[in-house]
Amino acid sequence: MVKKIRILKHFLSTKHFTDPITLQKYQEQKLQKLFSGLKGSFYPRSHQLSDFPIINKKIFMENFDAINQVGISYDYALKTALDAEACRDFSPKIDGITVGLSSGTSGSRGLFLVSDEESSQWAGYILRRMLPKPYWQQHKIAFFLRANSNLYESVTSSLVSFSFFDLQIPLQEHIGTLNTLQPTLLIAPAQVLRLLAQTPHLTIAPKKIISVAEVLEAEDKARIEQRFGVIVHQVYQCTEGFLAHTCEHGTLHLNEDLVVIEKKWIDVAQRRFSPIITDFNRTTQPIIRYQLDDILVASDSKCPCGSVFTPIEKIEGRCDDILTMRSLEGEMYLLFPDFIRRAIITCDAPIHEYQVIQKGDTLEIFIDPFSSWQGVDEALHMLYHTHGIVPLHHRFYPWSPLPLKQKRRRVYQQ
Ligand SMILES: [Zn+2]
Repeated sequence: MVKKIRILKHFLSTKHFTDPITLQKYQEQKLQKLFSGLKGSFYPRSHQLSDFPIINKKIFMENFDAINQVGISYDYALKTALDAEACRDFSPKIDGITVGLSSGTSGSRGLFLVSDEESSQWAGYILRRMLPKPYWQQHKIAFFLRANSNLYESVTSSLVSFSFFDLQIPLQEHIGTLNTLQPTLLIAPAQVLRLLAQTPHLTIAPKKIISVAEVLEAEDKARIEQRFGVIVHQVYQCTEGFLAHTCEHGTLHLNEDLVVIEKKWIDVAQRRFSPIITDFNRTTQPIIRYQLDDILVASDSKCPCGSVFTPIEKIEGRCDDILTMRSLEGEMYLLFPDFIRRAIITCDAPIHEYQVIQKGDTLEIFIDPFSSWQGVDEALHMLYHTHGIVPLHHRFYPWSPLPLKQKRRRVYQQ
C-alpha cells in the first residue's frame, strides 16, 4: 500500500515543461541535490557536472564498490543475483535494495542496485508518460517481455491491470488470451508488434501501442499503424534509466526532467551521437556522466507539442551496429546501419526478412526469400559506390527466424 501511494505521488508530480529556463533551473536544482548527497571515494567533491569524469559500463562495474552508496560489494551483489536467477526469484534484495543483473547485448554483464523509493519513482513516471489520456479510466495493459518482472505488480489497482505475455512461449499461443483480454494498451518489442500486425485472427483494438527494447524501423512502424489504426509510440529505456518517450505527436523526446543528456558526437554532420547520461534520482548507485553505447540521431525540427525536451529523430542502434569500412583513399569509414537497411529494403527484389553481420571484410547476409540475393548484392554495391568505399565480400544464406526471446539486431558487426 505504501508503495502504491509513492507511485501515485510520483505519477502526479510528473510535469510537462514548456519553458526552457524553467527546465534549466529544475535540472540545476536536481543536480545540486544529487551532488550534495554523494558519499564514497569514486566521484569528485564538486558541484560542477563538468568536473566529473565521463565513464562507461566497464568503469562503472570496475568501481561498483566505490560508486554505490549503500556499502554493497560487487562479489556479494553478483552472488545474490546469480543465486536468485537459479531459483527464478526475479527481485532479489540485500537490505531492502533490489539487485538486478543485465546481460547486455554487447556481452559485458551489468549489476544494478535500486531502492524501493527509486523503483516507485520510476513506475510513477513511466505510467504518467505511457498511459493514454484520460488517465482516470480503466487501463488494461498487455506487456510482452523477454524476462519476467514483478516491478509492476504493485501498480495493479482497480483502474490499472497488467498482463504479462512471456516471449519464451510461441506467439500463436497468446492470441486467444489477447482476444479475451482486449487490452487498451499494448507494449511489446518492435518485431513482436510487427508479427501481431500480421496475425489474421487477432481482434484487439488497443488505444495506444508502445514499441520497446528494439530499434523501430520506419517500414515496421507503418505496417503496425496500418493494421491497428493508431500511431506507434516508443519508449527508450535501459537498465541505466528511462531516457525518452514519444509525445502525443509521436515525436521521441529525451526525458530531461529525469536525466541530463550530454552529446558525444559520432558524426556532427549526420547528427548522430551517443548519450552521456546523468540521472537525478539514482542515489543508491549514482549514474553520473555515463556514456551509453547507443547511437541516437538528433532532430532538426521543433515538435508542435510545445515540450522543451530535446526531440530525437530516431534511435539507430548500438555503436557496434556501425560497420567499419575503408574509403577508396584508404581511410577508415563508418557506415551507419541505417544505410544498409535502406539499401536492402529498397532494392529491386522482394524482401520479407533479412539480417546482415559484418565479419572483417565479409558481410554475411541472411535473406528471405533467398532468390532475392542478386537484387541485394547489386543494391549494396551501389551503396559502396555512392559512399566511395571499398566493397566487402558478400556471402548469402537463407534467412531463418530467431526465437522471439532474442533481441532483434538486423545489422551489426561481430
Ligand atoms: Zn512533442
